[in-house]
Amino acid sequence: MLIDNHNRKINYLRLAVTDRCNLRCNYCMPESGIDFSKGDTLFTIEELSRLSAILVSEGIDKIRITGGEPFVRKDLMVLLRNLSKMEGLKDISVTTNATLIGPYIDELKTLGIKNINVSMDAINRETFERITRRDQYDIVHENVLRLINEGFNVRINFIALSGQNTQDIIPMLALAKHHDVGVRYLEEMPFNGGSRHFEGNAWDYKRILAHIKEAYPDYEELPSEPTSTSMNYKIPGFKGSFGVIPSFSRTFCGTCNRLRITATGDVITCLYAQPCMNIREILRGESSEVRVKEQLLKAIGSRAKTGFEAQEKQQGTYTNSMTTIGG
Ligand code: SAM
Repeated sequence: MLIDNHNRKINYLRLAVTDRCNLRCNYCMPESGIDFSKGDTLFTIEELSRLSAILVSEGIDKIRITGGEPFVRKDLMVLLRNLSKMEGLKDISVTTNATLIGPYIDELKTLGIKNINVSMDAINRETFERITRRDQYDIVHENVLRLINEGFNVRINFIALSGQNTQDIIPMLALAKHHDVGVRYLEEMPFNGGSRHFEGNAWDYKRILAHIKEAYPDYEELPSEPTSTSMNYKIPGFKGSFGVIPSFSRTFCGTCNRLRITATGDVITCLYAQPCMNIREILRGESSEVRVKEQLLKAIGSRAKTGFEAQEKQQGTYTNSMTTIGG
């Protein structure tokens, strides 16, 4: 079992399978992209499967596949097939921008992968295209509705961006009114790959909630898992729900159960920390299973208590992009 130095059980791995993305969201990376990883600096699917198996044997029972955009990786389904056979792995989830998922929806269902988080930062086409710098609104909207209708547990992640999309916060709730879907509003974080100066967060979760309360004063809080990063609510008469995630306010660090590994093997024990080590060559070397376990235990044994503590240790401002970290 993986227990960190603050006695928190780590059972949730966020595994990035690529740092590449077919969108260019302006709060995530510059228009020209970032210096994407090449060749054998990226894990192969076999390596990602082996790494996952090692972690599952150590008590990881939830893996979220993320990126970059996971579906830009042509061999992604091979990994998902391998994961779906892993005993002890109770939950396989995917975070996607839903542009490329269409052809894989049937097989995802067959594999029993039900939890799909879709990033969608606007319900208005122009706003969506301005933020993503790509003309992909129709396919995203269509795939979201398809996923919902096919019975997936869909959650929409909407980053509240000052001056860009906050006029869409209320209209976005129409999805939760008509469908059994969770619309979650997140605070912007400073991981934009240097695409712009991060001013701090003008739309924190309290402001988002106050804004929603003006339109829907009767919303009620729903119970949440102790390790949940979201606070969730129901508006009377709505089929779905909504939530807020204080990703910059960081109110949830006390129950953090997550470990992040990037597509090139960087191990990140807190979103606001620098990678504490790289596991790639260890996985590729001799006695890899024992050594990977040893090294990961070491990493987990020196986690920051909170994202604020991790930030204090950070030298200067953040220049990394979420497309590398995986969200
Ligand atoms: N491509 C997939 C997607 O779009 O969901 C997975 C990777 S993406 C980097 C993961 C999540 O990070 C998305 O929900 C995205 O909105 C979020 N994200 C990216 N940059 C962010 C930032 N600066 N602040 C907050 N969230 C960010």
